[in-house]
Amino acid sequence: MTTIDTFDFKNKKALIRVDFNVPLNENFEVTDDTRIRAAAPTVEKILKDGGAVILMSHLGRPQAKEDKFSLKHIVSKVSEILNTPVKFVADSVGPAALEASENLQMGEVLLLENLRFYKEETDGDSDFAEELAKHADIYVNDAFGTAHRNHASTAVIADFFDQKCFGFLLAKEIESLDKVLHSKKRPVTAIIGGAKVSSKITVIENILDKIDNLIIGGGMVFTFIRAQGGSIGNSLVEEEYEKTALDILKKAKKKEVNVYLPVDCIVADKFSADANLHVEEVGKISEPWMGLDIGPETIKIFSKVIKDSAIILWNGPMGVFEFDNFSGGTKAIGVAVSEATKAGAYSLVGGGDSVAAVKKFGMEDKVSYISTGGGAMLEMLEGKTLPGIAAIQKNQSK
Ligand code: AMP
Repeated sequence: MTTIDTFDFKNKKALIRVDFNVPLNENFEVTDDTRIRAAAPTVEKILKDGGAVILMSHLGRPQAKEDKFSLKHIVSKVSEILNTPVKFVADSVGPAALEASENLQMGEVLLLENLRFYKEETDGDSDFAEELAKHADIYVNDAFGTAHRNHASTAVIADFFDQKCFGFLLAKEIESLDKVLHSKKRPVTAIIGGAKVSSKITVIENILDKIDNLIIGGGMVFTFIRAQGGSIGNSLVEEEYEKTALDILKKAKKKEVNVYLPVDCIVADKFSADANLHVEEVGKISEPWMGLDIGPETIKIFSKVIKDSAIILWNGPMGVFEFDNFSGGTKAIGVAVSEATKAGAYSLVGGGDSVAAVKKFGMEDKVSYISTGGGAMLEMLEGKTLPGIAAIQKNQSK
């Protein structure tokens, strides 16, 4: 794989597509700088080599060139994290932007204005990509969060460079997913949770060939249970996906994948943090009760499977973890994944809500890798080739 380690950036200008789509408060201060920190090693390597860095990103979903979406608001934060004064130019293409990159000295960093101030960015416009490409000698893509988009700066631009590569962050994302999906170590366990089965079907179908155990939790459980004739009360269900759920179970059996569905759950009398609750057998729920978390027997069974695994992929919470009373299942699974990791397993956590859960329970350092791109990771798990990755790999041996 071509990464920035392949190149010597001495006296070269590098244009890096980063994902600085960070949350800002009403005073335009960055409230979560994880994404900026994640890109720092790539920038540092290029500066250390003796090169110059031009950073480009999008921020939010601007309709026009609204001031609140200007990347000027994050310049001081980026400077602080990179420990060097970052220059800013209030455009991403055109004479002013080009003058700024031309005047950039080796060892310096320049941040371009929000790419989505031009609709050509999301249109994947080739002329716009060519204009952006004029800024530098080498193109580096380090934005996993947008790697599944065929945008000008994430994919189309790569055609205008002879020298192009992944940054450290994107390379790490690809490697960690590869470790999980193409591992020789067994058993491989996937823990799939979240609200709806409909949003995870393609993922489950694609990974069945690559795993030994499939643990299913979260709201999607009840579509499986109802399809099998169980009674689910007021639990979340997608009736139109019951047949699909049965098909998944059939396919799993054919491929000799062990499927683990909950045997008990915590039921609530309303969808609320202060609902009345008790433990119930999973197929015996009557109205008005609804299953909002996995139960104690299930936690025992799931935890044992997880602790016996060599490779673990976790996507989606086991219950409504946002409510403390229904967060126990997700937390317990987090503990099991942490313990398995400590004992030598490789664990990858990905997808917005499971990452939020791992952070909520302070387990960030106890799993092997946390993916930074929710949508991009799901598409990779679905077996799709991401445009941002394909664009770098094109015309390269690997
Ligand atoms: P997803 O985005 O599909 O991964 O779903 C995450 C959401 O699923 C979280 O907000 C959870 O609160 C929700 N969720 C998990 N379990 C349940 C459940 N049993 N009933 C309703 N919602 C759930």
